[in-house]
Amino acid sequence: MTELARSTGAVNLGQGVPELGSPRALLEDVAAAVLAGANQYPPAHGTPALREAVAAHQRRRYGLEYDPLGEVLVTTGATEALAGALLGLCDPGDEVLAFDPCYDAYAAVARFAGAKLVPVSLVTEGDAFVLDVDALRAAVTPRTRVLVLNTPHNPTGKVFTPAELAAVAEVCREHGLTVVTDEVYEHLVFGEGGGEGDGPVHRTIATLPGMRERTLTVSSAGKTFGVTGWKVGWVCGPAPLVAAVAGVKQFLTYTSGAPFQDALARALGGVEEWAAELRRTLGRNRDLLSDGLTRAGLRPYRADAGYFVQVDIRAWGHEDGVRFCRELPLRAGVVAIPTSAFFVRPGAPSHLVRFSFCKREEAVLDAVERLERAAS
Ligand code: PMP
Ligand code: GLN
Repeated sequence: MTELARSTGAVNLGQGVPELGSPRALLEDVAAAVLAGANQYPPAHGTPALREAVAAHQRRRYGLEYDPLGEVLVTTGATEALAGALLGLCDPGDEVLAFDPCYDAYAAVARFAGAKLVPVSLVTEGDAFVLDVDALRAAVTPRTRVLVLNTPHNPTGKVFTPAELAAVAEVCREHGLTVVTDEVYEHLVFGEGGGEGDGPVHRTIATLPGMRERTLTVSSAGKTFGVTGWKVGWVCGPAPLVAAVAGVKQFLTYTSGAPFQDALARALGGVEEWAAELRRTLGRNRDLLSDGLTRAGLRPYRADAGYFVQVDIRAWGHEDGVRFCRELPLRAGVVAIPTSAFFVRPGAPSHLVRFSFCKREEAVLDAVERLERAAS
């Protein structure tokens, strides 16, 4: 779809590549680190400064204690943490639960491990995607080993509610499942915190009773600081689980991005201020896009967080998101991504497409104008 945007000159609201800038001091710190010679293999588990900053972040934000020595591992993006977790924890024939639709890496890395991703459908209720606890319970088998949770969620923008997290936690405790929770959008819940509103709040499942010892929490610098090309992520959890990931990482990449780590440690120390501004920008873009889509006669779902909004295309007489997304650049000059790319289960709805709003405001406004013109 990115190539289609390029070749047609369409506004690209496809891939979640952010255009909202990064903290200036972070960029300067990295540039200085490169020039100062931080260009060789850093410690295999990550630099002490970044591991300590991640532990401090989890303590400050969630009240969770992790030992920077053994309970925090720096990875090459969240992607490596997820791959390391499933490769490290699953045996061939194991089953991995994930809520469908889901980020496309989960099914792929489960397969690398010889495991199978078992999709548990998120169901739509009004303009929201919600957890179906009965479907979750029905999906557990004696082979189920891991549950992959992703909140805030890509591709829907859903934030799991406290009740949903409690239900997931109960099932995991009952069946002895390990949770891998992907929280790369943890700072991007709109209206959250600082008296900005009483909307949804990001909560992390490791804070629930009996969950810290069975949870690996994954995050990354990419979305929070607008540096997706750096590929620096991290994972926290109890030492035996982190050791399982580290054992895989040793031979996948061994270490990750030396000049980025200490710079990110410093940025993470002041993330709240940066993230508050980013949330406001993203929240405004979400409103502009959702309102514009509605005016264009399409039906956006509610996106409480992250980079993306789901849209029902049936009001434009379309059933097939793949075809819709192929035609949209020509019909309207806008690129989106068919949500079918994120569904694992056969027979999933084909009438959903994903638009991203992590773009410059002018690009969002331009896209909205184009969509409204194409609708009239
Ligand atoms: N998980 C989710 C839900 C994502 O949206 C992304 C971003 N593409 C990733 C993981 C990957 O993150 P990273 O670039 O840090 O590997
Ligand atoms: N997470 C981003 C997205 O979902 C980009 C990652 C990718 O394209 N693989 O669009």
